[in-house]
Amino acid sequence: MVKMAALAGKSMPVLRVALDLPLHRLFDYLAEDASAVDIGLRVRVPFGRGEKVGVIVEVADASDWPVDQLKPALEILRDLPPLPPDFFGLCEFASTYYQAPLGEVVLQALPVGLKRVDPPQRRNARAAKKPVGIEAPALTEEQANALSAINPAAGFSVNLLHGVTGSGKTEVYLRLVEQALAAGRQALLLVPEINLTPQLEDRVRARFTEAGVVSLHSELAEAARERNWRAAFAGEASIVLGTRLSIFTPLPRLGLIVIDEEHDPSFKQQDGMRYSARDVGVFRAHQLEIPILLGSATPSLESWSNALSGRYGLLRLNQRANPEAKLPAVHIIDTRRKKLQEGVSEPLIAAIKERLARGEQSLVFLNRRGYAPVLACPACGWISRCTRCAANMVLHLADRRLRCHHCGCEHRVPKACPTCGNQDIHPFGRGTQRLEGWIKEQFPEARVLRVDRDSVKSRKQWEAMLELIHGGEADILVGTQMLAKGHDFPKLTLVGALGADAALYAADWRAPERLFGQLMQVAGRAGRAELKGEVLIQTEYPDHPLFAALVEHDYPGFAAQQLKEREQAGFPPYAFQAVLRAEAPEMADAIAFLGAAASLPVIAEHDKVMIYDPVPMRLARLASLERGQLLAESYSRPALQQFLPRWRESIEGLKAPSRLRWHIEVDPLEF
Ligand code: ADP
Ligand code: ZN
Ligand code: ZN
Repeated sequence: MVKMAALAGKSMPVLRVALDLPLHRLFDYLAEDASAVDIGLRVRVPFGRGEKVGVIVEVADASDWPVDQLKPALEILRDLPPLPPDFFGLCEFASTYYQAPLGEVVLQALPVGLKRVDPPQRRNARAAKKPVGIEAPALTEEQANALSAINPAAGFSVNLLHGVTGSGKTEVYLRLVEQALAAGRQALLLVPEINLTPQLEDRVRARFTEAGVVSLHSELAEAARERNWRAAFAGEASIVLGTRLSIFTPLPRLGLIVIDEEHDPSFKQQDGMRYSARDVGVFRAHQLEIPILLGSATPSLESWSNALSGRYGLLRLNQRANPEAKLPAVHIIDTRRKKLQEGVSEPLIAAIKERLARGEQSLVFLNRRGYAPVLACPACGWISRCTRCAANMVLHLADRRLRCHHCGCEHRVPKACPTCGNQDIHPFGRGTQRLEGWIKEQFPEARVLRVDRDSVKSRKQWEAMLELIHGGEADILVGTQMLAKGHDFPKLTLVGALGADAALYAADWRAPERLFGQLMQVAGRAGRAELKGEVLIQTEYPDHPLFAALVEHDYPGFAAQQLKEREQAGFPPYAFQAVLRAEAPEMADAIAFLGAAASLPVIAEHDKVMIYDPVPMRLARLASLERGQLLAESYSRPALQQFLPRWRESIEGLKAPSRLRWHIEVDPLEF
């Protein structure tokens, strides 16, 4: 029974509404006809001079605000059933853990169409073509062992499935999905980028022709995303295939969560509400008492150490599923004493020639798009800097533009040096466009295909390109890590990797982990079918232990060595971190604000938390804002979690210049 707030003799319930605003509070409205059954419904409310759609979190009998200042809600929307308590439980966890306002968390979980004040009329979608079903293959022994280690009926479990590329992890996922469906439950399958893996979506649809499979990701058109979300929420779709944002989808019968490529940084949202979909997934599985499976050939060191310590179960697939498909032979090419042409070594050129002669495919991997990372004037020292960021403008010769890869700002390529007028300005360094051009000259008879975000802008283009590669209509691929993800290219037998060294001694201590993952992934493209694969990695540091591990396909060895370094340095996963970031037109303002936050009295009350000095971020200027940060660290997760909300509240009380923005990010990946 809801008690009523008294207003001018009349009693009226108070709606406590979550709105998408950067404020850590709910907003109260009056609604004559509301009762507790309306919790979880959307509501249209007046806000400022306009209106907003929010979600009813509570129906109360009183407000902390004077009742005569409360406005009546405009309309409770009843076109959807209420969002369930477990959804709010999940949002509350994320709000507390990530220091994000509950309203932001709740509202970001809804598709745009459901947040519109005037929703457009939706037409029904055309019925999708029914996929042709395919049979499941018999499991390999390793797959069967992995599968039998997971008992969906036993409630909550987290397992890490560590399987080499091509070991058949996907088949294990599909069998688990099958079991969940058989038990009448829904399955949520998270992948880093659906558009990069259209084959996976096809595979899921073909296997589960009756189940109702929907995808949820940010590149879907608004109407399609809303339709899919509704089907998932209504329980009509049994399988949801999505990117990180889908982890918050309310699913009434959820019985299984799978996170493929769990190490992928794209599971971490880096703006707005900053969260890790993988970690939210683990909480959600715990909350619902269901299994979650994390899969990867190169797990994140966080997950790997959880598996080693026994917090997560560890399942291993050490062999490729197709016994004919051997893991590729990895060779390190020492480039210190070799003459390079356009950065490519003799042995790699020879290996490409061999492949051309045999009618096989080669892939040259360079994780840097554009023609050259910078344009420079040798006469006066001018270089093409972005005026808005602390970064260089990348030269794109294909359309003669200079482009900043951080803020997106672009110009035409100048004909002469803007400073001294010298007409002889040069590109320095190398990107995929330049490499493509050189390879075309070098191998005029070959069909060369460049694959990066400039040559592939849409899913359609990507599918067309995959088809070309599959059909054997390309001889040499030049590409970025776009090519690294889960594709079988049966004719691809050679992978050459350039430009790996930059990550070896980078200031970012996570760079080696990412490099190892990328090189393992891209190496995994070679020799997936009957043809044996070879991988050539060029480096000036051939003795680096990372390469030794790569040659042996030894992820555990690599991980052990990295974890040792992290432990000695006191980095995650041995310490827990959060950063306070401030952005302002002037760095001095950002640093001063962070300095004030670093000396708040609340810090003294939390002696298990260390606060470092404010420093500029690695990319100190982005889109005309200067960015500083302050690291908070603790060896105790609970200590950090107790500290953060109190710190945040104190920071909210600090005076800041009007154009300064700040936020807290928990478990940051980038600094
Ligand atoms: P991963 O996800 O571990 O990289 P995939 O699941 O894509 O590996 O499997 C690699 C290849 O092996 C695919 O072509 C897949 O069809 C095949 N495969 C997987 N499991 C089996 C199996 N049990 N029997 C035969 N082929 C399999
Ligand atoms: Zn000049
Ligand atoms: Zn820029």
